[in-house]
Amino acid sequence: MYAFTFERPASLADAVKLAAAGGKPLAGGQTLLASMKLRLSAPEQLVDLGGIAELRAIKKDGNQLVIGAMARHAEVAANADVKSAYPALAWLAEHIGDRQVRAMGTIGGSVANNDPAACYPSAVLASGATVVTSKREIAADDFFQGLFATALEEGELITAIRFPIPKRAVYEKLRQKASHFPLVGVFIAQYDAGVRVAVTGAGSGVFRHKGLEDALNKDFSAKSAASVKIDDSELNSDLHASAAYRANLISVLTQRAVAKAIG
Ligand SMILES: Cc1cc2nc3c(=O)[nH]c(=O)nc-3n(C[C@H](O)[C@H](O)[C@H](O)COP(=O)(O)OP(=O)(O)OC[C@H]3O[C@@H](n4cnc5c(N)ncnc54)[C@H](O)[C@@H]3O)c2cc1C
Repeated sequence: MYAFTFERPASLADAVKLAAAGGKPLAGGQTLLASMKLRLSAPEQLVDLGGIAELRAIKKDGNQLVIGAMARHAEVAANADVKSAYPALAWLAEHIGDRQVRAMGTIGGSVANNDPAACYPSAVLASGATVVTSKREIAADDFFQGLFATALEEGELITAIRFPIPKRAVYEKLRQKASHFPLVGVFIAQYDAGVRVAVTGAGSGVFRHKGLEDALNKDFSAKSAASVKIDDSELNSDLHASAAYRANLISVLTQRAVAKAIG
């Protein structure tokens, strides 16, 4: 690594000041430290958010779940409110990476990083969740902007994610054997306002699938999902899978998710 200074503020206000002055937020370091070791990232100052208790809170607030940015995946997976109000989210957190990644990785780090194959962005987008930051509130539909890109501005910190609790939801993924990242993941969530379907791992960033949403809003069945032709022209093709394979996975995983949701 290149040399850097390290700050561990105890309050959000201090963290915001340090980040505004150019400090790079550090959550669990699961992505950031690896990229610093590879010298792909060379921040002059790290601002460790791990000492700010308020960023770790997880609470049910009416018909919403509010999850602090520094909640670790293992904490989300084990939280009683998440498990009872939004089991698909607990399941997602429980199946990220391996035990060490789940012990250190955070929801805020995952959402800020917006890896095109990360799990959480699909839940945030499918839930129509709100990303709460040190400056404002950003709707999920406006937040994710493609490959590792988000609406966050320099120095802006995610403080929490607010998830409306769905009537039913399921996350299905096919794990890549080496990393456990999804080769493709599909998150479906049903609300009074309709069904939202978000896909991760298949394109340059997480995206909603309008064709599947329309079909499931007309008829919430696996058969209805199966009738939707998935266009593969803008999907990823790499050493792990072709675009056509990923398109097929989107269809199959959605059908499975719907079948599970129906029960
Ligand atoms: C082996 C391995 C397997 C994995 N498997 C999966 C998987 O199956 N599914 C999955 O979804 N993910 C997976 N991950 C990713 C992991 O779950 C982490 O969420 C991700 O690496 C981000 O890590 P972190 O939370 O420690 O954030 P960091 O690495 O500390 O930070 C990541 C980025 O976000 C910024 N940041 C962090 N917190 C904030 C904040 N509050 N506000 C603004 N910016 C912030 C940092 O500055 C940095 O740019 C895997 C990672 C590894 C190493």
